[in-house]
Amino acid sequence: MTHRKPKPEPRVVTRRNAMVCAGSGLIATAFGVVADFGGGPGTGPGPGTRTGTEPMGSADAGGAGPPPVEAPSVPAQPWMPEATLKPLSVNFTPGGLREVRGLVLHVQEGENSLHDRFSDPAVRSSAHFWVSQSGEIEQYVSAHDRAWAQGTGNPSWLSVETSGFASRPLTAHQVDSLARIYAWGMAQHGWPLAPAPTPLSRGLGIHSMGGRDWGGHACPGPLRSAQTGEILTAARGRFPR
Ligand SMILES: [Zn+2]
Repeated sequence: MTHRKPKPEPRVVTRRNAMVCAGSGLIATAFGVVADFGGGPGTGPGPGTRTGTEPMGSADAGGAGPPPVEAPSVPAQPWMPEATLKPLSVNFTPGGLREVRGLVLHVQEGENSLHDRFSDPAVRSSAHFWVSQSGEIEQYVSAHDRAWAQGTGNPSWLSVETSGFASRPLTAHQVDSLARIYAWGMAQHGWPLAPAPTPLSRGLGIHSMGGRDWGGHACPGPLRSAQTGEILTAARGRFPR
């Protein structure tokens, strides 16, 4: 079922609460303001309630988006066996996935587990997975549920936050762990071993590919975006045939 909501008007926020998510942070630095397309499911928070990691434009924006694809979209496993499971109690939409087109790569612009931050109702942001720089995988949201990571892309994609900064590439451990997540998705969701260049495609995508509808972020930045091929190559070796 298509569930559409009117697109919220962007509002200007200050650098103080516009921190993080790679390019947006850079844009904020350059211009002092960024556009916020926030507004979660139901009533959105008031101005200034967003803080911390990648909140800008990340709150759920409803079901608007590309039409569903024919795919094995009923996930067999809601939780990845290799991940440390840390389920959230807020900041996600239960049963809110219409399909699973693939995995969207994000950069944290920070370090350490995001579980506590994503457990703060005021943040109104989340991701399915988080990968530390040493390769630890934490899963916060079931693959049956919608995380709030990339605006109108939320109903159609799983999401992964990567510890560190856009100015530094993913570590070898992170590449390996991202490949493990992706190989799991290939087996569970039928993801193709391919990059996803647009929100209408399927595969391994990046936050910035969604443009304005996904919050207008440059996340995860050129360095990490250029590593998607490396992740897919590693996933090929891990995909259980
Ligand atoms: Zn992002």
